[in-house]
Formats: sequence, C-alpha cells, structure tokens
Amino acid sequence: MSAPRRLGVLGGTFDPVHLGHLVIASEACHALDLDEVLLVPAGIPWQKHGRVAASAEDRVRMVELAVAGDERLRVSRVDVDREGPTYSIDTVRDLRRLHGADTEIHLLVGADALAGLPTWHAVADLVTDVVVVGIARPGHAAPERPEGLPADHFVALATTPLDISATALRARVRDGAPIRYLVPTAVEAHIRAHELYGAAA
Ligand code: ATP
Ligand code: MG
Repeated sequence: MSAPRRLGVLGGTFDPVHLGHLVIASEACHALDLDEVLLVPAGIPWQKHGRVAASAEDRVRMVELAVAGDERLRVSRVDVDREGPTYSIDTVRDLRRLHGADTEIHLLVGADALAGLPTWHAVADLVTDVVVVGIARPGHAAPERPEGLPADHFVALATTPLDISATALRARVRDGAPIRYLVPTAVEAHIRAHELYGAAA
C-alpha cells in the first residue's frame, strides 16, 4: 500500500481569492512537505451570514483560474456541493472519503480565523483527526496553539507576510481603485467581466 498522502486544506470564502491565499498555500506546501494543497471555497460560511458577495460558482471559478498551472494547488468543491452551512468537520470527513482514510490532513488556518477555532462546530472531534497549521497574518497576533488542541496536532508557520484581505479588495473594486498585482490577472479579468463587487463594466 502506498504511504498516506500529506494533504493541505485551506478553507475560506475566497470572495475573491488573492495572493495572500496563494502564498500561504504555496509556502505551506513546501515547508510541510505536502503532496498538494486543496483550496476549498465555503458554501454558506456559518460565520459570515449575509456577508458573501459573489456566488459559489464565481468563487470556485476564480480559485480555479488562480491555481491553473500550479500542479501543487487544487480546488475542491466539497463544501459548495454540500447542502447547508459549511463546517470544517464535514469538509474533513468528505475529503477523507475522497482521498482515503489514511490521508494526513493539514488544516491551514490564518491567525485571525485560528482565534475562533475553539468555537468551531464539533471542534474536539475535528482536531483529533488533523494537524492544524496556524499561519501568521499581518495585523493579527502571532498564531498560538488554541486551548484544547494537543501539542502534536498544532504547528505555527510564518509565510511571507502579505497584508491583503478580500474585504479590502471588494472595497477597492467598489471604489474604482486598482487590484492589479493583488490578485492573479485572470481573477481580475473574471471580476471585471462579471461585474462582481460593483465593478464597472
Ligand atoms: P475576508 O476579508 O472576506 O474575510 P480573507 O482575505 O480573510 O477574506 P478568507 O477567505 O476569509 O479571506 O480566508 C481564508 C483563509 O485564509 C483564512 O484562514 C484566513 O485567515 C487566511 N488568509 C487570508 N488572507 C491571508 C493573508 N493575507 N495572510 C495570511 N492568511 C490569510
Ligand atoms: Mg477572512
């Protein structure tokens, strides 16, 4: 039997995907010797009621465009294809079903999202099954092991810091400010072609 695969999983709304996401996925892949990293757009993110601007299909498409040509990075539809709110415990369960029960799942979580981890649905069951990778994010406290997470289920990782957020990008598009060099060219083209985030045609 082949060795278990080391899989990185980066969940998020990706509304839109930006270079901050791509750099953490790429550098975590290298630093942790992962076979690949899945970017997993949320269906209905339970923390963000009413704050998702683009449709699931637009968000998936933008991630597909962003990772095209990088064979280490892939998009997973498990969360957008599941009914109801997105919980990481379901993401992990679905990914194990698809990729094999032995898959070593590394959940990449930015420092801001990590702070909320103790409130995640079924977190005790979730964390026994994965390694949580807390990733530094500019403007947020350094990632620390959340209470209740065993030491061998947590690593902190510093990647090249990029102070880019999707919230700021949506505001820039609305205000007519450039987003060039903050998102891949093809993602910007998709935003303009589909007039997302109030982009002028
Ligand atoms: P929003 O502003 O809409 O919340 P975002 O930029 O935070 O968007 P998300 O889709 O919420 O992007 O983030 C998905 C994951 O990526 C989260 O774990 C988040 O902490 C992490 N992340 C996003 N941007 C960065 C960044 N610039 N540096 C480090 N981690 C990041
Ligand atoms: Mg966020």
